[in-house]
Amino acid sequence: MKILKFGGTSVGSAENIKRISEIVLNQQEKIIVVVSALGGVTDLLVGVARKAASGIKLNGELLAIRARHEEIIETLFGNEDGVKTIDSLKPLFEELEKIVQGVTLIGELTPKTLDKILGFGERLSSLLISNYLNVPLIDSMSVIKTDRNFGKANVDFDLTYELISEACSKVFQFAVAPGFISSAADGSMTTLGRGGSDYTAALFAAAVNATQLEIWTDVDGFMTADPRVISKAYTIPTLTYSEAMELSHFGAKVIYPPTILPVYQKNIPIHIKNTMNPLGDGTLISQSETTGKDHPIKGISSISGISLFTIQGLGMVGVTGISMRLFGALARKEINVILISQASSAN
Ligand code: ADP
Ligand code: ASP
Ligand code: MG
Repeated sequence: MKILKFGGTSVGSAENIKRISEIVLNQQEKIIVVVSALGGVTDLLVGVARKAASGIKLNGELLAIRARHEEIIETLFGNEDGVKTIDSLKPLFEELEKIVQGVTLIGELTPKTLDKILGFGERLSSLLISNYLNVPLIDSMSVIKTDRNFGKANVDFDLTYELISEACSKVFQFAVAPGFISSAADGSMTTLGRGGSDYTAALFAAAVNATQLEIWTDVDGFMTADPRVISKAYTIPTLTYSEAMELSHFGAKVIYPPTILPVYQKNIPIHIKNTMNPLGDGTLISQSETTGKDHPIKGISSISGISLFTIQGLGMVGVTGISMRLFGALARKEINVILISQASSAN
């Protein structure tokens, strides 16, 4: 079995969804297709949720999201199937509208409600694509179980693997599953963090001991730098799991960092490919090391939105627990610390 994950751009237009169908339906193996929300929809939903909570009147954003899905459906489907698919998405749009109305009335947006709103992106895209490919839909929310850390939930691996492999054992040849969404023990929807559809696909791959995890995106693989920043960046043919982890952890957005561990533990290779250039070689991430004599440096990545600050003062010298308070405060706000240095007196 193979797991193929298609990101936002890859599912973002009728033309690209047709490419997905060519890529998937030509495969001989059993395939689970994990999909992201249509490109840009998750950001739009974040905007809608925040606006609703702060009492700002919506400016047709929900209608625009709906129109975007319906236009794609009209281009992809024949008349009768198009109407059926639009009808099958309708209850989701109505539910979304009601929740946003609720947020507007209460004037408050909890992390739990935000997850519920963001989940509509993948719920809509996966329903659309499973209808188009005419294959069953797996409910990722009920097979990926997490704690209640809304916004970036922690996975219960044993239970999740059991539930995924049970769901996949019933798949005849193809199935579609939404990325990004999961649920807590009480059934509340949670999400795996922004970019989390890659992680969903890795959990599926690890659960079924897939032969390969394929991440289909909008660039020719893992590149030496972000091609949007460095125009001369080129594709790296092979990487080890730890090289890929290091680069993605430090800003290479092409793969969501938590994706790597589940497949590394099962020694499942990750192949990164371009949906718009399926014949390209892409990047293969596996255990095997390439000597890299000619290219000792594999790539460069960068992170924006980083702050460097110094905390100092005579009152801190010799006071126990200062570090604990500082890092505790940062952790409570979900701020990642990537570099620490400490003077000898400030302990
Ligand atoms: P998807 O929606 O398919 O998950 P993402 O936008 O999450 O796609 O990731 C792909 C993007 O990652 C590329 O369009 C590119 O701008 C960015 N990126 C950053 N660093 C790298 C890198 N080293 N190699 C390839 N892409 C990178
Ligand atoms: N749609 C989600 C996001 O934009 C998850 C993903 O695309 O991987 O973050
Ligand atoms: Mg991504």
